Amino acid sequence: AQELFEAYRERAAADAAAGEEGLNAYTWVAEQAPADAPSKEAPLGGVPLAVKDLFCTAGIPSQSGSKILAGYRPPYTAHVVEQLEAAGSTILGKTNQDEFAMGSSNENSAFGAARNPWDRTRVPGGSSGGSAAAVAAGLAPWALGTDTGGSIRQPAALCGIVGLKPTYGSVSRFGMIAFASSLDQAGPFARDVSDAALLYKHMVGRDRRDSTSLQHPQEIELPSGVDLKGVRLGVPKELTGEGVESGVREAFNATLALAEQLGATVETTHLPHAPHALSAYYLIAPAEASSNLARFDGVRYGLRAEADDLLEMYVKTRAEGFGPEVKRRIMLGTYALSSGYYDAYYGRAQKVRTKIAEDFQQAFERFDFIVTPTAPTVAFRLGEKTADPLEMYLQDFCTVPMSLAGIPAISIPNGLSDGLPVGFQIAGPAFSENRLLDAAYVLE
Ligand code: GLN
Repeated sequence: AQELFEAYRERAAADAAAGEEGLNAYTWVAEQAPADAPSKEAPLGGVPLAVKDLFCTAGIPSQSGSKILAGYRPPYTAHVVEQLEAAGSTILGKTNQDEFAMGSSNENSAFGAARNPWDRTRVPGGSSGGSAAAVAAGLAPWALGTDTGGSIRQPAALCGIVGLKPTYGSVSRFGMIAFASSLDQAGPFARDVSDAALLYKHMVGRDRRDSTSLQHPQEIELPSGVDLKGVRLGVPKELTGEGVESGVREAFNATLALAEQLGATVETTHLPHAPHALSAYYLIAPAEASSNLARFDGVRYGLRAEADDLLEMYVKTRAEGFGPEVKRRIMLGTYALSSGYYDAYYGRAQKVRTKIAEDFQQAFERFDFIVTPTAPTVAFRLGEKTADPLEMYLQDFCTVPMSLAGIPAISIPNGLSDGLPVGFQIAGPAFSENRLLDAAYVLE
């Protein structure tokens, strides 16, 4: 375990030292292997872990990619990190991300953008871009990310690795710096489905410090499927039409053909409200963010601006500490929640959310899984979408519906388009992770 840690640590530290010339995947790298290395016999065998910056890790910088948390070292550790450590993993480093997990390209990070190891002029996806880049480049064996609207699945797709967004509630949010609490969920990044399953197995569980967490009704098994006989796949027209790049569509169709060869049936279906998912998400997520981010006021954590009085201190700290995308979301969210607009925006978005969840429930009466491309495009160039937030938001078109419905979804690599990786998304009913991981294992 010591040697393995040191081997990865050296690679991660070399990349971190390379600055702009490297991948900028890490925001912090451990200085040495832990003295009391876990035994090889532990379930995770001492294999080290890269952790997204937004997980609180006791004594270790945890800034959620933001300047407003500069220098913050939390006094406690997130539940999932604690669980993985208890199972025999160790913290290799903290990874780069979009500020407060808001973004799809990692370009909204106070630490500068992480790069895509397949092509350093391109983004790794976001918001968990550093975790995805680190695993794809072999700078970590596996990593933790979080997914609010696609932040595990989309970077996994753009970097050619596996990423799982679990059922909402199956993993505790305790110690995750909150973005949108009704959507945020931690999950694993790995190079294959078995590793993703192994990490997830040791993350699940009810934790009394997160009132929305609950016990997974099943023990998580390592995948063992050999075919897809009898598995019914539904392809929703609404998420697989216009907007999906031709190379991504070709890879998607090839995987559907493979699934049929392996015994699955593939049929077109409908999620009639899915086209409204992005609009609902960009009201609900900013509304929750505006409330969650109210605690960053310069009094309790991180950055504090020089000022003559308290009000000026709040104002200057927030003006200097938050980046432009975070400010945009706080303004959108505050507006959507304000008196007189609440019913028209936030209330209506919640109704759409329910409709989307019902669409999935109906679909799962006929299908085992819903499948889509994970992202509509391959990795794009740094700077290509920064001028137009709406263009950036479209990256989440295929992933946000599952987030709103709280259901699990996994992205697996399914080939290349113009030499860049493409991802295939499989979504199942709540708590269907064992079946989902099995299907993904057969197809990867
Ligand atoms: N890209 C989406 C956003 O900016 C999703 C982010 C996430 O899942 N954390 O909100």
